[in-house]
Amino acid sequence: MSWFRRTEKGINTPTELKRETPDGLWYQCPECKNVMHTREHKQNAFTCVHCNYHDKIGSEAYFNLLFDEGAFTELDKDMISGDPLKFVDTKAYPDRIKTTVEKSGLKDACRTAYGKMHGKEVTISCMDFGFIGGSMGSVVGEKIARGISHAIKTKTPFLMISKSGGARMMEAGFSLMQMAKTSAKLALLEEAKLPYISLLTDPTTGGVTASFAMLGDFNVAEPGSLIGFAGPRIIKETIGKDLPKGFQTAEFILEHGFLDFIVDRKDLKDKLASLLALLAKK
Ligand SMILES: [Zn+2]
Repeated sequence: MSWFRRTEKGINTPTELKRETPDGLWYQCPECKNVMHTREHKQNAFTCVHCNYHDKIGSEAYFNLLFDEGAFTELDKDMISGDPLKFVDTKAYPDRIKTTVEKSGLKDACRTAYGKMHGKEVTISCMDFGFIGGSMGSVVGEKIARGISHAIKTKTPFLMISKSGGARMMEAGFSLMQMAKTSAKLALLEEAKLPYISLLTDPTTGGVTASFAMLGDFNVAEPGSLIGFAGPRIIKETIGKDLPKGFQTAEFILEHGFLDFIVDRKDLKDKLASLLALLAKK
């Protein structure tokens, strides 16, 4: 078994030569496989400079992108989920929450903040897919509801950025109640004659699509986002038919009248600000 042993002596590679480039310097687009500098990718609002693929980003990146100078005040920062059903799957729900908090640095799948966008005050709730698949539980619903309350109290517009796999199974019925709660709150916003824009990002599915994400004065989406209620496999099995090509993409849904328009993330701030200015004039 001599080939397992290094027969030649003195072959040593110093650590600094083992890697050609430091970690995190380059970003490879999962869509077109082209490589770009991470700084360039970030400056391009985390979209590919070659094919415009919109990478999934979280609340921190959206807040930095939308609020002037990235300055904002977060609401209900420390709200954390309870365990009303004493739910246990492969592990107990509180343990799952604890490990996810440690891993993601987030407290739940939604953050709400207010600040200025092109000089105008706005309240934004933004979901994070990194926290149990952006699932909507009691904390997500409550944070959105309180965000809307804040918008009503301060007479400012409300923006929702959705990114969700649907309801949080570990909270079962409590998750589903959030659909009614957030929708009822949005009705109060409407009564106060304040604008609501819903931005759907990749992916927006399940109970989120079936409630607040589709209730905007304008429902807009990022290019290429997966948007739907049930997944394609379930629909296919239910109706027993093949689904059309591109089914459940933002582009398909726009064509079929479920969206107002698709907005490139690089233009997002300008578009949203002018839209809000338009709605304020009504
Ligand atoms: Zn690309």
